[in-house]
Amino acid sequence: MRVLWFCIPAYGHTNPTIEVVRELIRRGHEVRYYSFEEFRQRIEEAGAEFVSCDAYLPPIDAKAERRLRKVSTTEMSVQSFRTVTALDPVISSDVEAWRPDVVVSDSACFWGKLAAFKHDLPWVCSTTTFAFNEQSAKYMETSARELADMVLGLPRMNREIRKLQPLGYHVKSALDVVRNKPDDYTIVYTSRTLQPCAESFDEEHYRFVGPSVRDVAPHEKNGRPLVYVSLGTVINDRPGFYHTCIEALRDADVDLLISCGKAFDPTLLGKLPANVRVEQYVDQMDVLSRASLFVTHCGMNSASEGMWMGVPELLYPLTGEQRAVARRVSEVGAGAPLDAHAAKDPAKLRASVFAALKSDALAAGSARMREDLRSCAGPAGAADFIEGVAR
Ligand code: UDP
Repeated sequence: MRVLWFCIPAYGHTNPTIEVVRELIRRGHEVRYYSFEEFRQRIEEAGAEFVSCDAYLPPIDAKAERRLRKVSTTEMSVQSFRTVTALDPVISSDVEAWRPDVVVSDSACFWGKLAAFKHDLPWVCSTTTFAFNEQSAKYMETSARELADMVLGLPRMNREIRKLQPLGYHVKSALDVVRNKPDDYTIVYTSRTLQPCAESFDEEHYRFVGPSVRDVAPHEKNGRPLVYVSLGTVINDRPGFYHTCIEALRDADVDLLISCGKAFDPTLLGKLPANVRVEQYVDQMDVLSRASLFVTHCGMNSASEGMWMGVPELLYPLTGEQRAVARRVSEVGAGAPLDAHAAKDPAKLRASVFAALKSDALAAGSARMREDLRSCAGPAGAADFIEGVAR
């Protein structure tokens, strides 16, 4: 079987796909993966053929850059539609020559989804967030700003859509592309337990395979507890929050490790106390294998990885999607919401950290979710599903 795979340039969307690709290769299938140089190594290591898309990303002006930093859905969609146009000749001639059996694309990667439609190929949507339908949409509290961005942005998105029609993409409205239909075949990297409104997603079209992670053996935790802080890889330019964490745990009887992201120079945080380390990027699974508490922005991957390793979480979401993840993690008992004031107040943050470290309920909830996520079908289940759709 030949699998044509597409993803956007984001760790959170790429990482869960890697083990599925490895499994497909192990089964003797061919995978050709359209991605970006930053991810070349991990894709090639998994055994796929890598196709570089960097040269096809549209140029971004300062205004668009500001909107993207605020995670504007409109701006992301506009850029994505422009990438469809730029990549169209490459993908179209590749499809003609290579004749894939199935297309897998990330839910936010419009050039993959639209290529499948244009060339009438079976399509599997790879969803690294929660599965989305009318019911689960209600659960995701979209903020007024996020809603305004989407509604006001529709005419702009539809202008981009009209440019696609002469290239053979028969889509009428941007919403048809942005939103999936209930009968689209979809892999979701979480469990039914964590998915909001799970009963509204049927077994035939939705496969909840659990987080797709590289497992790491947990370390003995007999030294000082390690508190790990990360706001992920996208919206992490938050020196004020890192300062609060450092002041909160300065000289406390814990170690603090902050992964602050690449947009931010850690030396700007000044001289650090002896129990604090700040890195731009860490091997998060390895860190979690040693951590006693994870202060997380509730990106779907991070929150899942914490639960996979049975590490209790303090939840500090920054976007609507992350708030939905935080709400579910809290409802299943594996995390506690971080009080909004605590993010700015070292004394409050310190109290929240120590309360979470001592909480038996959180420890039990995390242990339960560790078992729940590990009981999912995993990458093998995802590979079975892709094989089924291709047939
Ligand atoms: N990650 C990592 N090291 C870091 C920070 C993040 O390995 O220092 C990984 C993390 O394990 C996860 C991904 O990057 O797989 C982040 O995805 P997530 O969905 O949590 O958040 P996003 O970055 O998309 O906001």
